[in-house]
Amino acid sequence: MVIGSRRDILGGVGAGIMLAGMATRASAAPSRKIGYAIVGLGSYATRQIMPNFAGCDHARIVALVSGTPAKLETYGAQYGVPATHRYSYKDFDCIRDNPDIDAVYIILPNSLHAEYAIRAAQAGKHVMCEKPMATSVADCEAMIAACKKAGKKLMIGYRSRFEPYNRLAIDLARSGHVGPTRFITAEHGFPIRAGQWRLDRPLSGGGSMMDIGIYSLNAARYLTGEEPVEVSAVESTDRSDPRFRTVEDRISFLLRFPSGIIANCISSYSSSHNSYRVTGTQGWIDMDPATPYEGQTMTIRKDGVVAPRTLPAPAKNQFAGQLDHLAECILKGGTPIVPGEEGLADMRVIEAIYKSAAQGTSVRIKA
Ligand code: NAD
Repeated sequence: MVIGSRRDILGGVGAGIMLAGMATRASAAPSRKIGYAIVGLGSYATRQIMPNFAGCDHARIVALVSGTPAKLETYGAQYGVPATHRYSYKDFDCIRDNPDIDAVYIILPNSLHAEYAIRAAQAGKHVMCEKPMATSVADCEAMIAACKKAGKKLMIGYRSRFEPYNRLAIDLARSGHVGPTRFITAEHGFPIRAGQWRLDRPLSGGGSMMDIGIYSLNAARYLTGEEPVEVSAVESTDRSDPRFRTVEDRISFLLRFPSGIIANCISSYSSSHNSYRVTGTQGWIDMDPATPYEGQTMTIRKDGVVAPRTLPAPAKNQFAGQLDHLAECILKGGTPIVPGEEGLADMRVIEAIYKSAAQGTSVRIKA
């Protein structure tokens, strides 16, 4: 990868947001690390989240929750979590009596997020919850209310908000680096394997839109900094494909934002996509790929000149940045940049997308 000069990296309109993030991290180091209980020891938890605590300054794993004793044994030994800090789903509520646990990180199938977030708040713990926050607006609202009542923080695992290229793209798009934004295109999808909970509506709450299309939606919202006021969606699903008996495959959706920006988005469970482009009056900002675990690539066309934009490898990757962010909010008393309200905002639009696709008409979204 080509690394730009320091002037190139820190100069220009991208500097503000990058430096703001760094300043937060560089400020007075909190005295202790926040203890997380990991709830659900599946693929994302064990392959991405748990290993990345090693890069955290303010967060550590102190407890594990799983329905599989062998996993508790294996990962407990690997991460130094003693038997007293390993829980089954049945004794989940006993986390209340463990003062080492400050926060829980819910990494379960989507429809279980609300139940465990609410139980965690009731047990007096802060909550980090994976995307999608839940499977309905009503559940999102109940989670926010439970955390508010308990006086606990609620953050959604929107990791791209802690990834430098996405942060730069937000800054460039919102500051009009390529002129005022006219269009956004955002595409996310992958060919899904059969035989998993993602294809079982009671556990997933929906198909590609809940799982991967949410990245297109979330990007359109964070790149504009606006909430869409109207959505128009078209779904295409081959119901004879055994994978798609209960959930949708493809959805294409258009969002209209208050400033007039139009976002044209793709969600797919049968084709590969991971990109977005912000087109302004003077050019475009391209991210391809945009939201993978690593390897984001940015290209900018401004006034007819096309050039890559490169950043140095960050001191902290997006996973450690996300984990430390909630920890710092707890330690210093801040509000997460991706609170429950952010998950709720996505869910409101997802419900409108499903409604539009079902009705065959555009749907207005109330503020
Ligand atoms: P997974 O299937 O690998 O893991 C899910 C875990 O939940 C498993 O350990 C399973 O045993 C457990 N579980 C508990 N109760 C269950 C039940 N009733 N049915 C099925 N499993 C049950 O899934 P995953 O890929 O780790 O996804 C978990 C969550 O993380 C999802 O909400 C997903 O959207 C999210 N995720 C986020 C990212 C990201 O980049 N932010 C990436 C992958 C997954």
